Amino acid sequence: MQSKSIQKIVVIGGGIAGLSLAAAVQPWAEVTVLEREPHLGYHASGRSAALFSETYGNALVRALSLASRQAIIDGGFAAHRRGALHVGGVEDSAAAIAVDRIEQATSLRIGRPSTPWAGLRTFSPDRTPVIGFDPRLPGFFWLGGQGGYGFQVSLTLARLGSVLLRGQPLPDDLTARGITSAALAPNRFITPAATP
Ligand SMILES: Cc1cc2nc3c(=O)[nH]c(=O)nc-3n(C[C@H](O)[C@H](O)[C@H](O)COP(=O)(O)OP(=O)(O)OC[C@H]3O[C@@H](n4cnc5c(N)ncnc54)[C@H](O)[C@@H]3O)c2cc1C
Repeated sequence: MQSKSIQKIVVIGGGIAGLSLAAAVQPWAEVTVLEREPHLGYHASGRSAALFSETYGNALVRALSLASRQAIIDGGFAAHRRGALHVGGVEDSAAAIAVDRIEQATSLRIGRPSTPWAGLRTFSPDRTPVIGFDPRLPGFFWLGGQGGYGFQVSLTLARLGSVLLRGQPLPDDLTARGITSAALAPNRFITPAATP
């Protein structure tokens, strides 16, 4: 369902995706955020490494990130530039190997991690976020699959959500980057029911 007359929106989940969308629609809709945990940002959003990488992800993800860049800077979310070391693995043994390698390669002394801590990144099958109305569920709107780049694309996805919820065309600056609603729409994964 696409409606230009939506007045009330219930956002399920108080992570960066839900909260940024809630902020984007708040000027024109009455919005309620439902979060089942004791506080906001409890899951993936509480694990973010706070990185913004323009080269991360496929072409569409990179376009979404680049489209967010200036708003992130203008919003005061980019405090400083810093380097980053990517370490893979979430099991205790992998963490121990990672610590050993860091200590061998650098002068850092990490010792024993007090809390092995992992978070899940939710990817869609094509590793591109999913945003748009579900054609099978009237009034249900998807904003998911932010994978490992949920923060750096969040402001653009929230803008997109705000226009798609109202059935409006995409802003020119996004279409100029090759971003289309079709490439993000949930129906790209929905195969037509087999005819009897
Ligand atoms: C270790 C790690 C490092 C990362 N580093 C970066 C980074 O440097 N830069 C970057 O851009 N991205 C990074 N990411 C990715 C980013 O954190 C995620 O893409 C983003 O947080 C996803 O946000 P979300 O709101 O979709 O999910 P979440 O933060 O998981 O939020 C979903 C919320 O929905 C709630 N919920 C679920 N079901 C219900 C329900 N039925 N009712 C009520 N509430 C419900 C959950 O409790 C949760 O709070 C990283 C991720 C991980 C795991």
